Amino acid sequence: MHKVVILGARFAGSAVSYWINKLFSQHEITVTVVDQWTVMTYRPSLVMAAAGHPIIADQWHIAMKRRCEKAGQHFVRDSIFRIDPQQQHVYLASHPPLPYDTLFVATGSDQGWRTIPGLGPEHGGVCEDYLARETGDRVQQPFHSLVIAIGPLLQSPADRPHLVGSLDAPGLEVSFLLDAWFRKQRRRDHVSITVVTPAPVPGEFLGPKSQEILATELCKRKINLVTDAHYERVSHSAIYFTDRKPLSSEKMIWVPPYPGSRLARISGIDDGYGWIPVDQYGAHRTWPNIYAVGDISTTALPKIGHMAMLQARTAVHHFYAVQQRKRPSPLRPYVLHVGWLGYGRGLLTLSDWLYGGSHELVHVGISSALAKACFNHAYKIFSGWLPLMP
Ligand SMILES: Cc1cc2nc3c(=O)[nH]c(=O)nc-3n(C[C@H](O)[C@H](O)[C@H](O)COP(=O)(O)OP(=O)(O)OC[C@H]3O[C@@H](n4cnc5c(N)ncnc54)[C@H](O)[C@@H]3O)c2cc1C
Repeated sequence: MHKVVILGARFAGSAVSYWINKLFSQHEITVTVVDQWTVMTYRPSLVMAAAGHPIIADQWHIAMKRRCEKAGQHFVRDSIFRIDPQQQHVYLASHPPLPYDTLFVATGSDQGWRTIPGLGPEHGGVCEDYLARETGDRVQQPFHSLVIAIGPLLQSPADRPHLVGSLDAPGLEVSFLLDAWFRKQRRRDHVSITVVTPAPVPGEFLGPKSQEILATELCKRKINLVTDAHYERVSHSAIYFTDRKPLSSEKMIWVPPYPGSRLARISGIDDGYGWIPVDQYGAHRTWPNIYAVGDISTTALPKIGHMAMLQARTAVHHFYAVQQRKRPSPLRPYVLHVGWLGYGRGLLTLSDWLYGGSHELVHVGISSALAKACFNHAYKIFSGWLPLMP
């Protein structure tokens, strides 16, 4: 039987396991999913935890092991150490080497805390449950200045499209949610909020209309914005830049730099920058029986969950088409994103602007926030295997 191994069980890995289950029968293939956690932390909800509601960090864990096993897939909880593309083995920390015929790598990007001198998770973050919980606790303390900083995306200079920020959307969401929360607490007049991004505009990957809405919203709500940031180092209470004065702050929240994946580097399957180079179907450019899906792949731009789901669909359909000797369809990227604006409102963007297109549909309001809330809850209820998958 054909052995399929899926590494990673969050947005990308979970969508891969869904599509494999949908397209293949259990008599054709065996499927093994590997992740260091049996539960998935649903990152889009962490911004709420960081914005003064730490308890939320514990409410968004989704039982992926259970989901996979219910569908007859094997789930191995372990740390993945290395992939050997020649021997077609995955080396794990505490299980025997795992052989594969086809491999889907969906282990995301590492968090590059140490890529900026002085920076570490102790500065505050939002990207994992423990960080969002801690941040949600820390904002309850009295203080007067808060910086929300976005790290750079350490992409190959040859990659297109090119983005300079790791992911600014959660940073912006936290700033809007905290602005609303501080106002509710009657603290807003005493706390300055500054968003710092390496990008030239807020909402770098969205499109000009959304970028203008975000810039206006930040200004209206007296949230300071520092763009084109070139970080030099970070101390306990300040961010130092290469080309402007340091910015002091009592508290910080970071979306850290994205430096690609150590696993991809160690395995020798990366593009020299820690990302896995793939074609328009998600297949590795040198090893056609390896697919890279989600944040870890060169074509995951922006690095968002919706893109990971689109890529999973494309990659598994390509794998299926190859088996069936059919014609596969390439990835047709578009951005679908809803960001929280606070006060029950959201900004919905449907756009192909990042890929050179001219379509950008934008909606601001309660219905956009409701759409996001519905998606999040549906994702949780169905453990990522939605009745309608993007
Ligand atoms: C705070 C925040 C909010 C966000 N909000 C949104 C949003 O609103 N909408 C949206 O579309 N996107 C959002 N994103 C982006 C989205 O979460 C990511 O794009 C998505 O999680 C990428 O999925 P992935 O499966 O590729 O990688 P990851 O989510 O990074 O998952 C990788 C998985 O692989 C496992 N893994 C990694 N290395 C190893 C190893 N060596 N051994 C074993 N297991 C390993 C990890 O445990 C993890 O389960 C947000 C991101 C953050 C940080």
